[in-house]
Amino acid sequence: MKNQLNDKEQVENNPKSHEGYDISRRNFIVTSAVAAVGAGAAGLLGPFSAQAAETNATKILGQGPYPTEGMAVYSATEPLKPLKFERRALGPKDVAIKLHYCGICHSDIHHGHEDWRKETFPLVPGHELAGVVAAIGSSVSKFKVGDRVGVGCMVNSCHHCSMCDMGMEQYCENGAVFTYGSKDRDGTMTQGGYSTFNVVDEDFIIRVPDSVDLADAGPMMCAGITVYSPFRRWSIGPGKKVGVVGLGGLGHMAVKIATAMGAEVTVITTSPNKVADARKFGAIEVIVNPDSADLSKYKRSLDFIIDTAPYKHKLDKLFTLLKQEATFCMVGVGKVSEPYEIGPFALLASRNSYAGSQIGGIRETQELIDFCALHKIRPEIIKISMSEISDAWDKVVEKKARYRYVIEMKA
Ligand SMILES: [Zn+2]
Ligand SMILES: [Zn+2]
Repeated sequence: MKNQLNDKEQVENNPKSHEGYDISRRNFIVTSAVAAVGAGAAGLLGPFSAQAAETNATKILGQGPYPTEGMAVYSATEPLKPLKFERRALGPKDVAIKLHYCGICHSDIHHGHEDWRKETFPLVPGHELAGVVAAIGSSVSKFKVGDRVGVGCMVNSCHHCSMCDMGMEQYCENGAVFTYGSKDRDGTMTQGGYSTFNVVDEDFIIRVPDSVDLADAGPMMCAGITVYSPFRRWSIGPGKKVGVVGLGGLGHMAVKIATAMGAEVTVITTSPNKVADARKFGAIEVIVNPDSADLSKYKRSLDFIIDTAPYKHKLDKLFTLLKQEATFCMVGVGKVSEPYEIGPFALLASRNSYAGSQIGGIRETQELIDFCALHKIRPEIIKISMSEISDAWDKVVEKKARYRYVIEMKA
């Protein structure tokens, strides 16, 4: 398998790769940096200055532990209720973050409803966190008090396995620590972003560019990176034809990001009332209700399909849309009690591949939010209060979200 992070070699062996977007990560960063300076987008890149290190001496809140209020799931069948708890005192590399926003992801609902596994309750969900640094540990070097930051689906990993070494902590061979419902390195269970405060290792924190609104930053931490990472892995760029299955939180970001990468996007949705939005976000074609629609005119037309639908659905017919030897990548996950079915001929007929992808690494998530800043990509969000979370969950399940609910933490 091609190692997507081995970019130095790719750039040096392929000088032509400097020409377009479909290039190495290293060159992409350089290109972005030049463009950012040209556009006067101050603060987009290069955050680690000597001045920041000096300011790191500032500690406003002390070392904790920090009283925190959250909204928790107490059982798989009840609405969320308040929970008061404490975030740990700062270790040397910990950063205390006052949370301002947290996006609602369908995965939160799957966890809350125990669709994937038995959970440890009470569980505070939320892995699209955005806030401001309130205090830092003694050896923190990347962030200072007052920095605008985000946290996604992971808060730690082993730091030394081959996956971590390559910046793919989400596939850590010793198990990444996920932002909620995961056993932390100290043995406690992690609690997520539906809360007022968090304490996170600095290596798992993303810098939010000045031009990105904090409320918009949250949904980039899961929805954004989950679609961006496979686009990078499968070299989506100018001239590529990309299918996006499902136009929800992930799907609408997929359309915007693939379009910004120069691809032509076809949206495949079961919601006829989302057609106009799909086109507004950049889609060239929209296929409604693929199970009953005549797909013959789209046969063998797509280079790549990303499937964001978070529920069981039919797959075989969708494979007929792929060109020879193209890849169909699953990122949306339904209930484990309802496994997907795929007929063998769906894969054999054109030597297609069925793949999966899980969020993205920390470096890649930083790259994604910088990419969104550069291309002015924003999620479509609806702000809600902590007390409206259960109602928002219902709307997400009923496919009524347009397109991401974001909880605003009122102090
Ligand atoms: Zn998510
Ligand atoms: Zn690891």
